[in-house]
Amino acid sequence: MAEDKPGKIKKIQSTGLMKKLMAEYFAELDAAARKGSPKIAWCTSVGPAELLRALGFLVYFPENHGALLGATRTATDLIPAANAIGYSPDICSYLTSDVGSYLKKQTPLATAFGMEGVPKADVLVYNTNQCRDVKDWFDFYRREWGTPVAGIETPRQLGDLGGVHLDPIRKQHEALVPVLEEIAGTKLDMDRLREAVDLSRKCTELWKKVLRLATHVPSPISFFDGTIQMGPAVVLRGDQRAIDYYEALVPELEERCREGVAAVDGETQRIYWEGMPIWGKLREHAELFMRLKSCVVASTYCNSWIFEDLDPGDPFGSMARAYSALFIVRSEDFKEAYLERMIQDYKVTGILFHDAKTCPNNSNCRYGMPDRLQARLGIPTLTINGDLNDLRCYSEEQAKTNIEAFMEQLAV
Ligand code: SF4
Repeated sequence: MAEDKPGKIKKIQSTGLMKKLMAEYFAELDAAARKGSPKIAWCTSVGPAELLRALGFLVYFPENHGALLGATRTATDLIPAANAIGYSPDICSYLTSDVGSYLKKQTPLATAFGMEGVPKADVLVYNTNQCRDVKDWFDFYRREWGTPVAGIETPRQLGDLGGVHLDPIRKQHEALVPVLEEIAGTKLDMDRLREAVDLSRKCTELWKKVLRLATHVPSPISFFDGTIQMGPAVVLRGDQRAIDYYEALVPELEERCREGVAAVDGETQRIYWEGMPIWGKLREHAELFMRLKSCVVASTYCNSWIFEDLDPGDPFGSMARAYSALFIVRSEDFKEAYLERMIQDYKVTGILFHDAKTCPNNSNCRYGMPDRLQARLGIPTLTINGDLNDLRCYSEEQAKTNIEAFMEQLAV
């Protein structure tokens, strides 16, 4: 295993393979957009990707583009273009940076992958399980391009999931079929759907295995690594290539565990990150926590691409359950019980809540949760203010001071 200099972020060797895979994924989309075939479906991050793949669409996830705009720090310059046509600076900054990117005809996909631009959609398919913004986002492109939009309306704040919730959601998945068949120009082959669900399920199992390796002390991987390593699980679920990738990554991380190689040398604190990453500050945060000998071992965000309910024996019913069982869709009580399990499993010593200005849906500190967890479990918590993409909402100095003080408090 390659040696890295102390204090430097340790390179995960499999990442080279992932870069190739992502380049291949975007090259396919670019070629399809230029030729008009195969057809392209845009899908929200936790939308029905398996159904789209089974119908032969190439699937593009605009939230992935949003994250790329954040990570390349181009978002903050693009958001004002969306604000100028009436999209508020207070709504999802993935949406506003993506719309700004479209309006200004600037995308890192061009420089990173040689693409003409974002691949134009033949259909836009959403699930409101995560938020309403995704639907409004797709409506922007419907108006621009005249592209049809179809989707699933999922209620939120769900506690226990029962037929009363899931039956209508399953029916909505089934009702998408004739709409999508007409656009795809083909009939749904149930065997292909079962196969896509099976591939997604296998990807989920491997991705979960990657994340669970962080229960090991010291952890071989940090949240900041996870936000990169999750790429194939995000854009290629339902595709064999994502499975192949994680089959390479898991042994590399297992070897780290066997050899005692830590993501953070001298790991003393084990932190849970609740909320969105601050994409433009990933490296700075990774280095800050490394300097503080603290590893962010687990997060809600990276675990949100685990869909254990998927079952090829019951594709529609299991998609309905899997995409409704997610953390973001659930009640406060469910979320607190989930966090309690994570704290125990990952031996977490403190929780950091990120209050993302433009994403209330992924900010869980606004209704008293940190105080309740602290009182009930005795776990220290810290809330930092920021945003996923809009760096105007983030004060580096303030966050750094607060994180340093929090680590001092944990060390006592
Ligand atoms: S969940 Fe948050 S970040 Fe994701 S699309 Fe919705 S508002 Fe944007």
